[in-house]
Amino acid sequence: MNEAIYPWQQDAWRQLQGVRQRLPHAVLFHGPAGIGKAGFIEHFAQALLCEDVRPDGHPCNACASCGWFVQQSHPDFRRVRPEALEEDGAGEGEEGEDKKKTKAPSKEIKIEQVRALADFMNISTHRQGLRVVVLYPAEALNMPASNALLKTLEEPPPGTVFLLSSNSLDRLLPTILSRCRKFALALPPHADALAWLASQGVADADGWLSEQGGAPLAALAQAETGNREEMDTLLHYLAHPTVETALRTADKMQKVPLSSVVAWQQRWLYDLFSMKLSGRIRYYPRYQRELKGLSERVPVAGLLAAIKSTAERRGTSDHPLSPKLFLEDMLLDYTACCS
Ligand SMILES: [Zn+2]
Repeated sequence: MNEAIYPWQQDAWRQLQGVRQRLPHAVLFHGPAGIGKAGFIEHFAQALLCEDVRPDGHPCNACASCGWFVQQSHPDFRRVRPEALEEDGAGEGEEGEDKKKTKAPSKEIKIEQVRALADFMNISTHRQGLRVVVLYPAEALNMPASNALLKTLEEPPPGTVFLLSSNSLDRLLPTILSRCRKFALALPPHADALAWLASQGVADADGWLSEQGGAPLAALAQAETGNREEMDTLLHYLAHPTVETALRTADKMQKVPLSSVVAWQQRWLYDLFSMKLSGRIRYYPRYQRELKGLSERVPVAGLLAAIKSTAERRGTSDHPLSPKLFLEDMLLDYTACCS
């Protein structure tokens, strides 16, 4: 067992060594969000650049190349991801200086970022080995950036490997898909994910895991955000919607990122709809009884309207004019759909 990758990724790592034998120009790793794909492909990138790779395919962590990689300064490596991820601290300080930006960081991968790779690919490699580009999430590529990347994938520069990762293949251009060797990373078995969460000190791991659809890193992130109380307040409201509680609940959500509140409500609606159709729920098993009661009461048309309007709100939740009004509006809308 290698600790640089997650326990549930060990088999995938072994399979990946077969891919490495005949390495394509581009590999697209795909699977649900929150299972650790980015870390996995970065580890593979390090292994591809390592000058003394171990028999099991893991990097040696001792050669010059590994040293540069770990210090974020490998000359033959580039990472392309949305600005928003850089600022999340998901990464590692290389671009974090400019703290006083007035504009919100972009969630898209832009064409300039793809174009910037051209210079990188046109010079010879520093270590006479491969050049590796890691890009994620691929669905963050906007249209011009997708087209620019496609051109590169169509005429792959020699000695360059692209490692892409995606949470949703259906949001990628088919022409990009067809240029990549696909490699699936699956949700871990429930027991493995639970054991891992417990090892991270997460209490009520089972609850968090269900709420995140079985994705352990997403569950950990939620458990660590400290918003559990607010989440319970919201779920309690969603289970017993009235105009009065809608307003009170909106008031209590002020400190939570709006996108989280919208996501919680989206999962709730997913469960409600699923309960109505099939009697099954996925995210909020603790509310089984309430979901069942509501599903018998709420008309399908109202439910579909709530699902649609909540999805639309997800798109605007980053920049509402007034977070409070945004929340009141969303919750009152839900109350109306349920009555
Ligand atoms: Zn090494």
